[in-house]
Amino acid sequence: MPIVVDQYQRPLHDLRLSVTDRCNFRCVYCMPKEVYGSRFHFLPKHDLLTFDELTRAVWLFAQLGVKKIRITGGEPLLRRDLDVLIHQISEVEGIEEIAMTTNGSGLDTQRAKTLQQAGLRRVTVSLDALTDKIFKAINDVGVPVSRILSAIDAAIAAGLHPIKVNMVLKRDVNDQQIIPMARHFRHTGVTLRFIEYMDVGNTNGWRMDDVVPASEILATLQQEWALEPVAPTHPGEVARRYRYQDGGGEIGIIASVTQPFCQACSRIRVSPEGQIYTCLFCSKGFDLRRLLREDSLGDEQVMQALKSLWAARDDQYSLNRSKATGSGPKVEMSHIGG
Ligand code: SAM
Ligand code: SF4
Ligand code: SF4
Repeated sequence: MPIVVDQYQRPLHDLRLSVTDRCNFRCVYCMPKEVYGSRFHFLPKHDLLTFDELTRAVWLFAQLGVKKIRITGGEPLLRRDLDVLIHQISEVEGIEEIAMTTNGSGLDTQRAKTLQQAGLRRVTVSLDALTDKIFKAINDVGVPVSRILSAIDAAIAAGLHPIKVNMVLKRDVNDQQIIPMARHFRHTGVTLRFIEYMDVGNTNGWRMDDVVPASEILATLQQEWALEPVAPTHPGEVARRYRYQDGGGEIGIIASVTQPFCQACSRIRVSPEGQIYTCLFCSKGFDLRRLLREDSLGDEQVMQALKSLWAARDDQYSLNRSKATGSGPKVEMSHIGG
């Protein structure tokens, strides 16, 4: 029996910790330069949850059923001494897996090894194209593809596998890269996941016309290769998985826009300054930092507050997207990390 379920009987399993709101990329769909320019105010250090606060939060969430932690950002590798945090979290009883989503630009062999030794088990590396021209136009800071491919190799060498690669598709920007990316990662053991461009936040100018739907992604791949569906390994798996019939491995499609998966959503997110978001599309967080910094509150009281928060949760934004919910204020992806 789950320890706590929300209004739609969904248990709490996954905790995503965004450890920084800063990033060295300016991906056009996430942190457009016009908004995140030199005048943008990122969080000052004292606003961030400390490693001890994050570890306490993980312990509290573990009491409520969380088993899996994903470290994200902004760019998580920009958080100093990340391996120390990972080590602390890995010692929390009940935590079975620690994974990280990164743009890969700061991942070399040594860093990957240090993180693995600290307790990191898997990484997802984001890469949206295989040609420098397209990739540089997306990351908007001139980072070449080769740097990210080296990061993937470093992660494999450090034993952080199976590696996943996230590719966000935007119409007329990188949809021509579906086949080259698939071809590149076939037979490598790396699982490429195609992600529908989402209307997260309010700064990326999202339009439905920019979304490349899952049906089109699959049809494009099927013109080249025979694919068969793979059954999900656990409830709440967000990617629809397919296997190349010739033994080339697997791909995933995350169709958050055209085939929402809110019914099984068991994720909770904590922002760098300790706001809890029970949905990627929330406009307002719940102030965990205030509770953690309140000396008079013991673990039991904070835990009860978290339990009540999850029990009251009725988010299912993606299922309701077509209603008038799309235009209100929402937290930014670069703040809570996807
Ligand atoms: N900086 C890290 C990275 O890029 O992997 C971690 C944070 S990033 C916000 C997490 C993931 O969200 C990345 O794979 C990124 O491509 C994806 N993402 C960002 N904005 C998105 C959007 N509007 N729609 C879909 N995915 C998005
Ligand atoms: Fe940075 Fe990741 Fe957002 Fe790109 S997707 S701007 S790498 S946080
Ligand atoms: Fe979960 Fe919200 Fe995404 Fe639905 S829209 S899958 S509830 S995060």
